[in-house]
Amino acid sequence: MKINKVRDKNHNQSSPNPHNKVRGVLMKKILGKKFFQLLKGIGQIAQRESLTAYLVGGPVRDLLLGMQQNGTYGGKDLDIVVSAGREITKNTAINLAKELFQIWSPHPPAGEAGQKEVKFRVHQHFGTATILFPGLQIDFAFSRKEKYAYPGALPEVAPGNIEDDLYRRDFTINSLAMELNPDNFGELLDLTGGENDLKKGLIHVLHRKSFLDDPTRILRAARFAGRYNFQIEKKTLVWLKEAIKKNVFSTISRERFREEMITILKEKNFVSCINLLSSWGGLDFLSPSIHWETIQTSNFKLQTFGGDWLVNLLLLIKNLNYMQSEDVARRMVLTREERKVILETKKHLPKVLQALRKNYPLDYIYRYFTLLPEQGIIHLEVSNPRWENIIATFHRRKNKARAVINGENLKKLGFKPGPIYKKILERIYQEKIVGNLPINLPKKKIKEKEIKFVTKHFALA
Ligand code: ATP
Repeated sequence: MKINKVRDKNHNQSSPNPHNKVRGVLMKKILGKKFFQLLKGIGQIAQRESLTAYLVGGPVRDLLLGMQQNGTYGGKDLDIVVSAGREITKNTAINLAKELFQIWSPHPPAGEAGQKEVKFRVHQHFGTATILFPGLQIDFAFSRKEKYAYPGALPEVAPGNIEDDLYRRDFTINSLAMELNPDNFGELLDLTGGENDLKKGLIHVLHRKSFLDDPTRILRAARFAGRYNFQIEKKTLVWLKEAIKKNVFSTISRERFREEMITILKEKNFVSCINLLSSWGGLDFLSPSIHWETIQTSNFKLQTFGGDWLVNLLLLIKNLNYMQSEDVARRMVLTREERKVILETKKHLPKVLQALRKNYPLDYIYRYFTLLPEQGIIHLEVSNPRWENIIATFHRRKNKARAVINGENLKKLGFKPGPIYKKILERIYQEKIVGNLPINLPKKKIKEKEIKFVTKHFALA
């Protein structure tokens, strides 16, 4: 692809550059005072150490988008790459981050919490460091170049210059850097036409082998296109589809697939991302039995669901049976807990749906609901608006269903401490959900009813 000319960085550094100044003012407006001061601070210390610090990748993209849309910076974390005219080592970024931490820790920048809250982490092996403020993370890395030994392999990394660092990235819109040193503060380094693609709303890879080198970029393309409502650039789309046809996902580890897939499922607009993936045949690797188009048109309104990615995964595999879902759980290397949420839902949902469809008595239905994990119930709620009210009532009851009596009360009733306590309290919880015990009376009355229930249904050992 055509590479845009790198801006002339040898401008007269003693006279202020009007272009930078405009950017500086705009940047402050978009970023807000806090981010602006942090970035200025990083640049000042880098310059003192004869290094060059850049804000790179996502934050630059979101900053420029904020400028275009006259909005505010939506991102939270800042990615900093440290470079130098001379040779750099793996420790270059770590040392700069350490110095900043020593300055910021006793005197946190404006808007940041007190010193105990500032944390520092080093990942020696990767040559990276992180400064953590509550709610804000700043990652530091040295500028690097990458080589792929074979398609899908993890890249071999070596120190490089900032240009190398930008050419190793996924899309033009993510390969932008903004200098932070005071002499050139705000200067944009755009080697691949990223700013232009941002304006046009295009997802554009840097070379034709990009998806073969790293197939997770297919998922990332869906994520950014879905999130910003961008188009996939023409050639990029051809290469992307070719890669999917070659079954490239099989060349990467399941863990890497899992990570990017979960990131998609956490996207606010995950439906749009999945629409794209589905239209490219990109869901077949997860399971060839997923019929996403059918799911969205027939069963749930096109809308975005915030919250739990497991709820979104349940929606994605809505038409799969238990065994097919087990396969998905394997492909996505779900943890035991996550697997349980998916499979328990798959196991019990058919019974719940049958009870709902056949208008079984409410207490019967609620008893079934209690078999479902929380995510399974939310899944039912968002994918079957028809039963919204029943589920909402169930939720209300569930929130108030904790037993009022406790271990002390059971002891007084003559029960010996042991597993029976848990059993009794759990039973009260269930009976309150299904409506056999009250939840809306004064506490004293509820307690009386619970005690009466226990003496009637549980025998003393
Ligand atoms: P988000 O707003 O979702 O955090 P981000 O662009 O910051 O988006 P990250 O996954 O944190 O996303 O990646 C940070 C940067 O690292 C990207 O902007 C991109 O430049 C680069 N990057 C991440 N993953 C890849 C990849 N698979 N191939 C090439 N570059 C990548």
